Amino acid sequence: MKKIPVAVLGATGSVGQNFIELLQDHPWFEITALAASKRSAGKKYRDAANWLSPNPLAQRYGDMVVRECLPGLPAKLVFSGLDATVAGELETAFATAGYVVVSNAKNHRMEHDVPLMVPEINPQHLPLIKRQQFGRGFIITNPNCSTTGLVLALKPLHDNFGLESVQVMTMQALSGAGYPGVPSMDILDNVLPFIAGEEKKLESEPLKILGRINAPGIELETFKISAQCNRVALSNGHLENVSVKLSTKAMARDVIAAWKNFRSDAVEGLPSAPQRPLIYFNEENYPQPRLHRMINGGMTVSIGRLRPCPVMDFRFTLLVHNTIRGAAGGAILNAELLYKKGYLNEQ
Ligand code: NAP
Repeated sequence: MKKIPVAVLGATGSVGQNFIELLQDHPWFEITALAASKRSAGKKYRDAANWLSPNPLAQRYGDMVVRECLPGLPAKLVFSGLDATVAGELETAFATAGYVVVSNAKNHRMEHDVPLMVPEINPQHLPLIKRQQFGRGFIITNPNCSTTGLVLALKPLHDNFGLESVQVMTMQALSGAGYPGVPSMDILDNVLPFIAGEEKKLESEPLKILGRINAPGIELETFKISAQCNRVALSNGHLENVSVKLSTKAMARDVIAAWKNFRSDAVEGLPSAPQRPLIYFNEENYPQPRLHRMINGGMTVSIGRLRPCPVMDFRFTLLVHNTIRGAAGGAILNAELLYKKGYLNEQ
């Protein structure tokens, strides 16, 4: 097939670099433009970006001249890894100019006509796109990185037993703060018990993803989530300690079976879909970020330590790769779903 030309907005950043790496051999998409701020525009990509991956930067991208993030890029679809201070306005400009915008940024996530997507969970939300007023262009978003891991673990519990309430405490990697991110003197020998805006996202985004489509947009789920977020000195991978209260009684083996059996027809045949979106470990000291964040190319969420909770019903630990499943990889999976469902043919 002729590949679909795509651009990366915010290509020099932490998420942007992951887009480049994940798209370099993609069977459906081909990067035709890299764009970032005025500070980077006009430079060769290798001079503008501080390449962070241990894998070498492909020469064809290193040689590309970074462009400004303005409509006019030679692409049909743009992946946005833009800083949230500018993402809202720039993504709107691209959608208005007729581009398909697949965004990681928070700005449009909770808008009533914008799908907030995890393809295995809520592919039925995609038709919200038709309600957008951009003409030929449209915007879809993927959730906050910690939300992605949490909501993938919650979905089978929600479907099988119902959820009454959820408590989550995160230990989030440095790459989640972008590049250069948190100053080394703040994080060395330390844990930061505050990440601006993060708890609110974790407490609201799963309710939209698990919600039902209705006339005004999405009817949010109504169970309560309480989140506490911490920044820790990891390179990649967010670890989350979760407690859940269920609506119906369940045995631990039923909960584990719900995770193990979780599959989604919607992602069948999508190149970035992992064989299994969830993996459950019986080992009492798993999952661990260094060991498990790259399972299935960083697209599988690892779960372990399911045990009774004296306050709620159950508690467990999960791990999500924040810049892959929680950002660039999740966004690419969204774009693949758009293609499979025919939304890119209409452009
Ligand atoms: P980052 O490393 O700080 O990168 C930000 C990017 O935005 C850079 O390419 C930067 O270009 C560009 N940019 C900044 N100001 C701009 C402007 N005025 N015009 C055009 N481009 C501009 O951030 P990140 O961690 O990659 O995050 C990118 C987005 O994804 C954020 O909205 C973030 O919240 C979201 N997100 C991140 C993660 C994660 O784990 N990191 C996960 C999920 C979602 P220059 O290099 O030229 O300044």
